[in-house]
Formats: sequence, structure tokens, C-alpha cells
Amino acid sequence: MTNQTLASRDLSVLWHPCSQMKDHEKSPLIPIKKGQGVWLEDFDGNRYLDAISSWWVNLFGHANPHINAALKDQLDSLEHVIFAGFTHESGIKLAEQLVTLSPPGLERCFYADNGSAAVEVALKMSFHYWRNKGQTQKTKFITLENSYHGETLGALAVGNVALYKETYAPLLMDVITVPGPDCYNREDGESWADYSTRRFALMEQVLQQQSDGCCAVIIEPLVQCAGSMRMYDPVYLSLLRAACDKYQVHLIADEIAVGFGRTGTLFACEQASITPDFMCLSKGLTGGYLPLSAVLTTDKVYQAFYDDYQNLTAFLHSHSYTGNALACRAGLATLEIFQQQPIIENNKHLAITLAKVAARFHEHPNVVEVRQTGMILAIELVKNKQTREPFPWQERRGQKVYQYALSKGVLLRPLGNVIYFMPPYIITAEELELLAVVAWQGIQIAVQD
Ligand SMILES: *Cc1c(COP(=O)(O)O)cnc(C)c1O
Repeated sequence: MTNQTLASRDLSVLWHPCSQMKDHEKSPLIPIKKGQGVWLEDFDGNRYLDAISSWWVNLFGHANPHINAALKDQLDSLEHVIFAGFTHESGIKLAEQLVTLSPPGLERCFYADNGSAAVEVALKMSFHYWRNKGQTQKTKFITLENSYHGETLGALAVGNVALYKETYAPLLMDVITVPGPDCYNREDGESWADYSTRRFALMEQVLQQQSDGCCAVIIEPLVQCAGSMRMYDPVYLSLLRAACDKYQVHLIADEIAVGFGRTGTLFACEQASITPDFMCLSKGLTGGYLPLSAVLTTDKVYQAFYDDYQNLTAFLHSHSYTGNALACRAGLATLEIFQQQPIIENNKHLAITLAKVAARFHEHPNVVEVRQTGMILAIELVKNKQTREPFPWQERRGQKVYQYALSKGVLLRPLGNVIYFMPPYIITAEELELLAVVAWQGIQIAVQD
């Protein structure tokens, strides 16, 4: 088997996610034979440094010995069982730990099987909570400009990335979209905190006027990842938490991408010392091994559903693979690694190294901003640094960086004209340097006419 034979078989039967399949006439699919640590290896023996953690899910490398061993053990006792009326040890233990590790006040764990499904669960639970409380006028959701919460229709509706959303607009529920705190747009010399605070006034205004008809505000804490890795200050979260209390709407924190150490703390909400009413987790939850998601919520929310069956207040939502035992065990093994090693502390040093290797990009004539939050670093390319005029999206400059990097053994997957590094936490300083060198060269090629 070679790359070519597999790629051609693939192209005759498969349809890949988030892809224009016609692109593969020019840029070949890459069949991966195995993964080891931060490296992927294809069928022709080429290796690729996985700088994007395989779509932000992998934390401790491919074929991680600890997670592998846990899964083999789980496989010999229980792979899966219906999670209604039945339960299992891995599901219980993982929930106990998530409740312990998450911000104080989150005391209940509801499982689903992917990030979008977790967002759907949180939206439905919030709406249903108010309904159970007799507040049937609360039907709307407030979301931020440039946000992303997944691809299913409910999650897509509360997102705001036009590329994914616009086509389906006629199918989507109506939401209230508020200008966001994205610090790319701050004035010269204005701090992240000042800008985020200033922008909060727009949210407060909407809450003041429309909270009566609203169930919840949904946000991605600190980093809008799919929205070009745009970042903001934790002060926005503190202000939002206080306002949600004041105006009686829920706060849904979508930590699907930023949870599990990405931003420098185990959960991004910790940086503002807030507890959301709902916290959505997925991606890193299983260390990048298996699809699983969780929605954590408060006892107050849980109690609003707890009643005699005949009162029809129960949350009758399910997925066939809810609480899958293998996935829960991978989640437990992932949390064990956090407990056995000083991961958060190590990441502080790694983030400093990341900043150092990326320092060269500040001076690049086509780089308008290098921004970083913990283990996420983004480099924004523009046509004109002074006017901030972007490259026309049709030119697909980021795609050229992608192609070049692959040819040099690095997997980057830019979001439009934003190149970012979001590596597994086991990456070394040398590997980070390699990333930066290859990205630099790729950018040099991509910005040529
Ligand atoms: C990836 C992502 C989702 C969707 O998760 P899927 O598992 O891809 O459905 C939702 N919210 C955020 C912030 C994400 O990054």
C-alpha cells in the first residue's frame, strides 16, 4: 500500500469533512499509517509534525502509552452499554472528576458524543429550565459576533462564522448577535482589558433591553478558535457573569476547544474565577482518542427537572452512544495524566518557548498581529500591514502555507489567512523551533504575488 493507491481508493468512495473535494485533484489526500507522539507517518514513510493536535483534540500525543493501556483494559471488561437505566464505573468516575475539577458549583454531568451535540444539550437544557420554571417567554439565545459552536443546526444558529453559516440561514433559529470583545479590533495602544471592558457595554445594553425573552448567553471563553483564533481579556467573562445574574439569563461557556489546559489553566473560565451555568466540554476530553462530550451544570438547573414523571419535566434527550465506556475510560486516563504530571505548570514554560520561537513573526511585513493565549498562538497575515487590508480570501494564501508546510513535514491548517500553532502538550522546544522555521518559509512563499 502506498499513499497513492490509498488516496485513489479513498477518493472513489469517501466525502471528507470541511473540504471542497475538488481541491484533491491538486492537493493529494494523505493516508496516515501510524501516529507516535506529535508525529504522524504516511504510507510512503513521510513524517508530519501534528502542530494542530489533529483538529485541537490531542493533548498528550498519538499512541500515548498511558491512554492505550487504559483502553485495552476497558476493552476487556465493557465496550459500551445503554446509559439510560444502566451505568458503569468509568462513566461515574469521569463525572466525579469533572465535577471536582470544574469551577465550583458545577455539580452535574450530562454526556453526549461530540461537541455540537453538547452545545445542543446546553441550549435545550437552558430553554427547558425556564419553561419548567414557568418562564415560557424565554426562547432566545444571545451570541457573540465571530463565534463558533459547531455544525448541527442549533449549534450553527448560535454561531456566527459566515463561511459555515450563511448557506443554511433559512433553516436556522433566530438569535441575537452582539458585537464581540475580539481584541484584534482594539485601538492603537489600547490594552486587551480596556477594549474587552469597553465592548462589554454593547452586551449589557442588549441584556438590559431583551433579557426577558432570553434563555442564555453562549460564549467561547477567551479564544474564538474557529473564528480565526481571535482572543479577548478575562475581564469580559467576569462582567458577563455578573450581568447574566443581574438580568436572569444563563451563561453557557463553550469550552470545547479551550478546555483542558489550552489557555494556561485547566478551564478558561478559571482565569475570570467564574462559574457558568453550563459548561460544554469535548475535544481534549478524551485526549484526542474517542468522541465524547459532557455538559456540566448546577444543582439548581438539575433540580428544575427533578419531579414526578407525570409532570413531564424530564430532559428526554439522548444519543445512542451517550456515555460510551471506552470514551469515558480514555477521558479518565487523560485526567490521570494531568494528575500525575505537572502539565499546567509545564505548559507555562512551553507557552513561553512558543512565544519565543514566534517572536520573529512580529517583524514580518505581512504579519499584522501575533497573538497568544497559553498554548494557542496565531499569526495574522495581511496584504498591507499599515492599513490592515486583508488578502482577498479567494487567493487562499493560507492554503499555500499548508501545502508548503506539508512538503516540509509539518501539519499546519490555517484558518483563512491566520496561521496558528496549537500543538500537543508533549511537543519539545526543538519541534516548536521547526514549526516556526517552516511556517516562516511557508509565509514567504504564500505572500508572493
Ligand atoms: C469544535 C467545536 C465545537 C463542535 O465540536 P464537534 O465535536 O466538532 O461537533 C463546538 N464549539 C467549539 C468552541 C469548538 O471548537
